Amino acid sequence: MKTTFRIALLPGDGIGPDVTAEAVRVLQEVARRTDDLHFEMEEFSIGAGEYLKSAQAAFGGTKRERNSADLAAGSESVVREFLRSGDPLPERVFERMPEFDAILLGAMGLPGVRWPDGTEMAPQLDLRERLDLYSGVRPIYLFHPDDSPLKGRQAGDIDFVLLRESTEGLFSTRKTPRDPAAERTTDTMLITRAGAERVIRAAFRIAAGRRNKVTLIDKANVLPSMAFFRQIFDEVAREFPQAQTDHVYVDAAALYLVQRPEMFDVMVTENMFGDILSDLGAALVGGMGMAPSADIGDKYAVFQPSHGSAPDIAGQGIANPVATILSAAMMLDWLNTPASRHGAAMIQTAVRTVFADPRARTRDLGGSLSTGEMGAAVLAALPEK
Ligand code: ATP
Repeated sequence: MKTTFRIALLPGDGIGPDVTAEAVRVLQEVARRTDDLHFEMEEFSIGAGEYLKSAQAAFGGTKRERNSADLAAGSESVVREFLRSGDPLPERVFERMPEFDAILLGAMGLPGVRWPDGTEMAPQLDLRERLDLYSGVRPIYLFHPDDSPLKGRQAGDIDFVLLRESTEGLFSTRKTPRDPAAERTTDTMLITRAGAERVIRAAFRIAAGRRNKVTLIDKANVLPSMAFFRQIFDEVAREFPQAQTDHVYVDAAALYLVQRPEMFDVMVTENMFGDILSDLGAALVGGMGMAPSADIGDKYAVFQPSHGSAPDIAGQGIANPVATILSAAMMLDWLNTPASRHGAAMIQTAVRTVFADPRARTRDLGGSLSTGEMGAAVLAALPEK
């Protein structure tokens, strides 16, 4: 009997559509080779491109020509009206998301498309907040020694999971309007007991399936919010007596990640620290093209590469699709049926097989494969069943 999963596809901007297409190809091939796995996929437009499209649509009609002329001439009030009429995450799309078993997302944002206060469109952050996806799971794994800037590391030597709290922390006031005339502005590090407890428990549960060590990354020596985070970590740790625990300040964590990443198994931290350290983690194993991620809540989950829309290489067909392909594998794991877990293992095996040959690399890793060629290599390396 086939298990059918409904997947919402949100390819987004820049390299997002290219890398998502490769992950979809791999998923379809996994389904073809597996007796009891089937996907129904539906694509939706969200992101900076969607924002521009919806602004243009709202702004069109009879006034279109005059407004375009005003826009070109830079009439400030017209530009402001235009900017207000777009929506990077249309409500009609958001409302459909709960219908799906999982969401696979490419990348969002374009540098030239910003809100009036200068911040970029980030519908992926809205999705995390509105669907309450509090666990940002970022596995970091070295497939081949050549891909790490660190010396003397073998495949598998770098192997940890960074868990980023994704609904509060230093991102909590990101939508507070800024007074452009003010000479002073603040961002708030929000830590709630409930928010901290749930992500810390998730970290211990992930660790239980690995080497069972959880390291708290904080700045408890300076910030009261972080001292609170640490207090909650120590309380939750008592529920998991089998686990080994550790506390590391975020600045020291940056140092240790480069000097001795082997010390980490599962790291848990607040939103902004996690954002920064996950890029550092990605750099240890070959860069953003190698870093998958999952944003998981109690009901919903979004799977996407850790990278952004990479406007510097968009449209060239050279983006590395492996982070997105590995994110699709995380999705199958999370769907948690025997068939989907088997599918996840098939993708992991295929990526390992491809990366064993140091010639099979995209440009970001010093190779010459295109996005499509890397996707095809993973596809060809999928085990038969
Ligand atoms: P965001 O803030 O949305 O995470 P960003 O602007 O910080 O995005 P990215 O879009 O992640 O950054 O790009 C950072 C760098 O990594 C760029 O030089 C980009 O070309 C590179 N990069 C990102 N993703 C990939 C990929 N899949 N393949 C190759 N290079 C990539």
